[in-house]
Amino acid sequence: MYEIEVAAYEDRLEEFATNYENDFGVTFGERPNITVANEKDYRSYLEDLGRETGLELGSSEELDMMAQSMYYQAMGMYDDINHQVLISDYVMGNGDDVDQSVVDYVLAHELVHAYQHNQGNTMSTVELSKEINDRFGTTEDLQTQLLAATWSFPVMAIAEGQAEYMSINMLKEHAADNERNAAAWEAASEKYQEGYVGAKEFYRENIEALIEVEERAKRGEVGFMDMFILGQIKMAQYVLGVGYIEDVVERNGTTMDELLENGPETLSDFLK
Ligand SMILES: [Zn+2]
Repeated sequence: MYEIEVAAYEDRLEEFATNYENDFGVTFGERPNITVANEKDYRSYLEDLGRETGLELGSSEELDMMAQSMYYQAMGMYDDINHQVLISDYVMGNGDDVDQSVVDYVLAHELVHAYQHNQGNTMSTVELSKEINDRFGTTEDLQTQLLAATWSFPVMAIAEGQAEYMSINMLKEHAADNERNAAAWEAASEKYQEGYVGAKEFYRENIEALIEVEERAKRGEVGFMDMFILGQIKMAQYVLGVGYIEDVVERNGTTMDELLENGPETLSDFLK
């Protein structure tokens, strides 16, 4: 087993939060706690979410499976019910194997979600879950999933795009401050160049197609290929979200706070 020094990450968190305030002229607000998380911590978050929303999240086995997939897929998450950043323990590595640059990048990203939460202008996970449930119900069929994902795309793309935009630019701005920042910037910049800039057209075509898919889905006409588009949505939130934010910041000088207040409401608005 390994020991993880959480205190070192608390200093790091403070450094990043202060950088965000200076770089973007925002007020970060209350700093979140950090938890080095295993599957049980993700499971406990899901139980909190079920309790807070009053929604039935699934059987005990289903909750286990969901927690496991969050643990492995997300590397980290911001828990807005308990105002804490979870970082999956395997990301922390064991002893010498810790890839500090990845931990720092995950932390920088999740911290932006904490800022968004403090700002109060973005939907909380609890509100979003309830809203999706009210609009679309809990049926997990392809039609429902497509309609829910299309409806929530703009809000998710702004949230994830802003988390990437702010974290990548903050790490870039502070790459020369210390060695850890330099490594974190290198990790972030690789992902940005390869995953975002290069893939933008691909994701844009898929998400443009989603407008038509939505029309068909409303009529109950969904096909096997729509599953492919559904699979692209998560990544497209990051790629197109960052692109959207770069555009409006450059064109209109939009501030980070304004983005949260006046985000696009529909997919068509988002794609304009
Ligand atoms: Zn995120």
